Amino acid sequence: MADDELRAAAPITVARTGITLDTLAKPLQCNHGLAAWCPRCHRWGHLDLGRLVREGHGARRLQGFKPRCRACGGPGQVQMRPPMPSWGGASWGIIR
Ligand SMILES: [Zn+2]
Repeated sequence: MADDELRAAAPITVARTGITLDTLAKPLQCNHGLAAWCPRCHRWGHLDLGRLVREGHGARRLQGFKPRCRACGGPGQVQMRPPMPSWGGASWGIIR
């Protein structure tokens, strides 16, 4: 299932109270992204939320979530990214 289909399957309506981005699926449903910083090798990566949700991790809570750096294997620190326009030609590593 493509990322757009995952968003359409479980859309989040933004109410006056705001949105709660508490699981790995919620940022994807709200067009947010999730990045991770590796303090050991000083690099950023973007998590492939669509793939994580497709692999059954959508209900996993963001609080305490520590993705593992693909370069060094160290624990990453996650950072929520708001909706942004895509930049052509950007190349990012992926931390899972
Ligand atoms: Zn690392």
